[in-house]
Amino acid sequence: MAYLSLYALQHRGQESSGIVTATGNEFRRHAGMGQVDEVFTRRVLDQLEGDVAIGHVRYSTSGDSNSNNAQPVLLHHHRGPIAVAHNGNLVNAALVRDELESDGSIFQTTSDTETILHLAARAPHADVVDALVEALRHMRGAYSLLAITPGRMIAARDPHGFRPLSIGKVDGSWVVASETCAFDLIGAEFVRDVERGEVVVVDVGGLHSFKPFEAARRASCFFEHVYFARPDSQLFGESVQAVRKRLGQKLWEERPCDVDVVVPVPDSGVFAAHGFATASGVPYDMGLVRNHYIGRTFIEPTQQIRNFGVRIKLNPVREILAGKRIALIDDSIVRGTTSRKIVQLCRDAGAREVHVRISCPPTIGPCRYGIDTPDQDELIASTQSVEEIGRFVNADSLGFLSLEGMLEAARRTRDELCTACWTNQQPVDLPRAESAQLRLFEKSRR
Ligand code: AMP
Repeated sequence: MAYLSLYALQHRGQESSGIVTATGNEFRRHAGMGQVDEVFTRRVLDQLEGDVAIGHVRYSTSGDSNSNNAQPVLLHHHRGPIAVAHNGNLVNAALVRDELESDGSIFQTTSDTETILHLAARAPHADVVDALVEALRHMRGAYSLLAITPGRMIAARDPHGFRPLSIGKVDGSWVVASETCAFDLIGAEFVRDVERGEVVVVDVGGLHSFKPFEAARRASCFFEHVYFARPDSQLFGESVQAVRKRLGQKLWEERPCDVDVVVPVPDSGVFAAHGFATASGVPYDMGLVRNHYIGRTFIEPTQQIRNFGVRIKLNPVREILAGKRIALIDDSIVRGTTSRKIVQLCRDAGAREVHVRISCPPTIGPCRYGIDTPDQDELIASTQSVEEIGRFVNADSLGFLSLEGMLEAARRTRDELCTACWTNQQPVDLPRAESAQLRLFEKSRR
């Protein structure tokens, strides 16, 4: 089940994959670089026996991309073995780690997740769940976390609720996953989300829940809805595909254009384009077709073929585009290079006009909470106006959804969501170097 669920969640990370299983005190781990189908063979799966399992697919937003940082992390400390899989980014991990290292801790990875385990190992509490909770109290930022210890599975979500985490049930057993699409694949029923600030413990006695953290402002990552999550998931209480369609509708209301056909950039623009087309009454058509079978080891030819990089993934359909004025819909512009290439592809296929519409506001700030965005200076919208970006991507016109329009389509207020990538305003106070994290810890030990 863990293996199948990881397949469903592959879009959330393609660098490394791993599973830890446990029977009582006996833990088994297999993890490595690559996607799920590259890391797990039948022989490996047969060796991963156990009554409980957690798995992880990773892309690095904190720490290096190497097999050492593959998750779940499995450590043995004085309370026994513990395995942890973590989604999100902890904004004070580097500071806490510095303090732990200067106090003698030896880290085996460069990922922020290991910091939690070192803190938990030092916590004075006898019970491992209490120790883990105490460690999490000292971490700031985003975590949706799953852990197993002998006889228990623990799920925790940070008090802001940046990243999703959902609970399901299959054949009388509890399952927890980042997205509900994982439940669909294993025939589990979606029960509810792990609430923000909630810790859920599953043991032989069933499922127990408590809320040990100080309350904080809600900050669900709205980029999950815009781009990252799978459209067939239920996320933060909403269907992802339905939200994307509403974003597309709103985009048409705010940035209409006189066109013959609405064309999505597959796969990321598909549902927003559907909403845009429905609202406008303009026909929707798949003027770009995506090849899904490009392996990670694909070798680019050495000779220069114009637009090769994007053409291997997307092929324009000439019959749909030639002679047409098109609205090209995508979810976001980050560096701007993809849009530029796609506009050129459409023009080469004969499109008469290309009007680019983006179903979120301009991305002006890097994400500190677990979405892999480039540094500020590589975000085209952080240095260029919409008009300049429009010229760069060579569109006949360019329109982004406004922040207000996005919130309206989201049916949320600004203080319920994390919108830092569009506003550069952080829902969490970013830690300053002088803040002494472990002194706090010492206080709680007394
Ligand atoms: P670019 O503007 O060339 O950096 O690429 C923008 C495209 O990348 C859009 O089509 C998005 O769907 C996609 N995208 C946005 N954010 C990310 C991300 N964090 N990781 C990978 N792709 C992304």
